Amino acid sequence: MKQSTKAIHTAYQAPDAYGALSMPVYHTAAYEFADADIMADAFCGRVPLPDYSRITNPTVIYFEKKVKELTGASAAYAFTSGMAAIANTLMCLASQGKTIVTSNHLFGNTWLLIANTLGRFGVKSKFIDLTDLEAVKQALDEDTCCIYAEIISNPHQEVVDLKALSALAHGAGVPLVADTTMIPFTHFSARELGVDIEVVSSTKYLSGGATTIGGLAIAYGQCGQFQQMMKENLLNLGAYMSPHAAYMQTLGLENLNARYALESANTLEIARRLRDLPAVKKVTYLGLEDNPFHKLAKEQFGGTYGAMLTIDLADRQACFDFLNRLKLVKRATNLFDNRSLAIHPASTIFGNFTEQERLALDIFDTTIRLSIGLEDVDDIFEDLKQALD
Ligand SMILES: *Cc1c(COP(=O)(O)O)cnc(C)c1O
Repeated sequence: MKQSTKAIHTAYQAPDAYGALSMPVYHTAAYEFADADIMADAFCGRVPLPDYSRITNPTVIYFEKKVKELTGASAAYAFTSGMAAIANTLMCLASQGKTIVTSNHLFGNTWLLIANTLGRFGVKSKFIDLTDLEAVKQALDEDTCCIYAEIISNPHQEVVDLKALSALAHGAGVPLVADTTMIPFTHFSARELGVDIEVVSSTKYLSGGATTIGGLAIAYGQCGQFQQMMKENLLNLGAYMSPHAAYMQTLGLENLNARYALESANTLEIARRLRDLPAVKKVTYLGLEDNPFHKLAKEQFGGTYGAMLTIDLADRQACFDFLNRLKLVKRATNLFDNRSLAIHPASTIFGNFTEQERLALDIFDTTIRLSIGLEDVDDIFEDLKQALD
C-alpha cells in the first residue's frame, strides 16, 4: 500500500467487537485480566496487553501503529505534546556531564529546554551552526550524547544536510535526532536520510487542523536501549498521549496528504505573490528558487516545502499595523491549522527572551510568520494585501 492508503487502512492491532470502522476511543485508566498469570505477564511486558493508560492504551497504540507503518520505524511513542516528545527523547539520551550538540536556530521552547531545563540537571550543550560541517566535527567529543537538529528551523527556515550530519554522528557513535515537524513524514523518509530518532509536534500537520496537542518520538534501526529507556520515562514521567487526542490525531492522519497538498501549494503561490508588494522587504520560503536552501530542501523533502513562510516588513510598528488590519487571517500562534495564521515571533513566542538571547537566536523585530491554510488562495492573498497596503 502507498502512504495515503496506509494512512486510512492500517489494520487494528485486534479485531473490534462491533466491527467499528473508526478506532473506538478507549476512555479507561485500567484493564481487567483473566487470571493472575496473564496479569503478571502483561505487567512485565511478556504479552502485549495494556495494563494502565499512563503507558499503554489501545486507541493510542493504534495511532502509534499507523505511524510505524507509514515511517517503517522500529518504535513510535505518542506524547501529550511535541515538547513532551522532545523532552522524553532527550532524557533517554542525555545525562549529567553529557553534551547535546545542536543549533541556535531552534524552536524557542526546545532551545530553553536544552539550555535551561536540562542544563539545571547537569546536561551540557553546544549551540553551533549545524550547516557548517567542519564546526560540527569540531564540536563532537567523547562527552557528546547526540546531535539534535530541526530539518527546517522555525521560524528561520534553515535546512540542515541530514545525510552529512548522520555520517558525522555515526562516526562519533551517537544518534542523530531530528525534529521533522515542518514536513509530514508521509512526504519524505527521515530514516533514508540517516536520522535515528525523529521527533514531531503532531499538534501541527497531523492533528487534523489544530484539533489537539500531541507529539511523537519515532525510532529507527536497532534501538533496544532507547526503547528500554523510553519505557522507563513513560512510567516515571507520565506524558503519554490521551485516548481522545489519539483518536483526533488518527483522523488527522487519514486526510493529512490531501490537506498538505493544498496547504503547500497555497503557500508557494502566496510566497510568489507577496514578493511583488512594495511593503514586503523580504519573503523567506524554501519553495522559492532563489532561497539559499531551496536545492537542499528539494533533494531531501521531495519537492514540497511546507506551509510556513516569513515576511520582513520595515520595522516592528509596520508588523503590528499589518497584524491589526488582518480580517480573514487570524492573529494566532500554531502552524498548519486549516485557517491561515499570522504572528510576530519577536514579541510573542520570544517575547520574554532577553534582547541578547533574541539576537543570538536570530529573531528579528521585522519578521512576521505566516502559516497558510486551506482557504481559497485568492481570499488569503487579498486579506494579506489589504493589510500590507
Ligand atoms: C510547535 C513545535 C514544537 C512544540 O510542539 P507542541 O506540540 O506545541 O508542544 C516543537 N518543534 C517545532 C518545530 C514546532 O513547530
